[in-house]
Amino acid sequence: MRYGTMKKILVTGGAGFLGSHLCERLLAQGHEVLCVDNFFTGARRNVAHLLDHPSFELMRHDVTFPLYVEVDEIYNLACPASPVHYQFDPVQTTKTSVHGAINVLGLAKRVKATVLQASTSEVYGDPEVHPQPEEYWGRVNPIGFRSCYDEGKRCAETLFFDYHRQHQVPIKVVRIFNTYGPRMHPNDGRVVSNLIVQALKGEDITLYGDGQQTRSFCYVDDLIEAMLRMMATGPEVTGPINIGNPGEFTIRELAETVRDLTGSSSTFIHRPLPPDDPRQRRPDIARARAVLHWEPTISLREGLAKTIAYFEAYLASEPKEG
Ligand code: NAD
Ligand code: UDP
Ligand code: UDP
Repeated sequence: MRYGTMKKILVTGGAGFLGSHLCERLLAQGHEVLCVDNFFTGARRNVAHLLDHPSFELMRHDVTFPLYVEVDEIYNLACPASPVHYQFDPVQTTKTSVHGAINVLGLAKRVKATVLQASTSEVYGDPEVHPQPEEYWGRVNPIGFRSCYDEGKRCAETLFFDYHRQHQVPIKVVRIFNTYGPRMHPNDGRVVSNLIVQALKGEDITLYGDGQQTRSFCYVDDLIEAMLRMMATGPEVTGPINIGNPGEFTIRELAETVRDLTGSSSTFIHRPLPPDDPRQRRPDIARARAVLHWEPTISLREGLAKTIAYFEAYLASEPKEG
């Protein structure tokens, strides 16, 4: 039996970067949290501080296999997010997005739970509309190195809307733009973690291509707030809704800010641009403002300072080699 507004909530990918922050916030709100993860890119360490919480449960499970549990709400975050990780085993990446979506939607249908999908700005591909509104259908290469992620996430969105139309499953789809913060994997290859770790270690800072490509970076706390607001909307709100910080920076500007904040003397070096690397990306968040009454509150410098502090502590606690 459940009391008041306390819910039993499933978070797939809950031991990852975003998932661990989400679990933390849901527990703080008084909910019961079932965190499901196969630890491909996530780690027990990310949720170690929650393991003793009486309302927290951690289950090792791969979402490509069926899962029979009783829950009121589902946040589907399971999927590697860094290009290095999702291209490591591309077939598994597509399976995770597509079979994972089928399984959580089947579960949601059976238990009548609302299910939120962590979709991505990558559904817009290398966009020719800038900034990207939700109405834009995107420009995605279906057979390239990024396709396992981009097309997997696009197919997952299709499944969400078809389960909604065909089976009346209550769905929420958010398209997340680049998000950063503490508990990003230090070796996951994403630009914020790469640049900070390189700057802190005094290693060369790698700019892929000319460093003039742009991204918009959202601090994790802002992102989680938007996800919670999305879940709290009425059943008529399905999304998709873009969530991200509309501040747009070139990768070189990001690198300069990181170098400045760390006081590092690292030098910039250029590396080849990975194939299909989007040239520019910035969310149009008009819909999030109107529907969720949300916009980001944490500036890039402020968020980077918090993230740098996390990586400093992380690197200091790492066993030294040799
Ligand atoms: P992450 O890699 O830190 O987290 C993903 C989690 O999913 C990990 O804990 C991983 O072990 C788990 N996982 C992967 N495959 C699984 C499987 N088959 N079964 C069970 N668990 C599995 O990445 P993140 O940044 O926390 O991203 C979380 C979600 O948000 C992902 O779905 C990602 O696509 C989406 N997203 C993130 C960003 C971002 O900038 N961080 C942007 C857009 C979308
Ligand atoms: N499923 C699950 N947990 C449940 C219910 C379903 O993992 O509680 C999975 C199961 O593998 C199923 C899939 O979700 O194949 C899709 O479910 P759906 O009811 O749509 O289809 P069907 O059961 O007919 O395949
Ligand atoms: N990037 C870079 N140096 C790095 C890692 C990434 O210049 O060490 C670039 C990458 O080519 C891309 C941008 O930074 O243009 C963001 O890369 P990330 O992998 O973080 O995310 P995504 O390409 O999925 O937005």
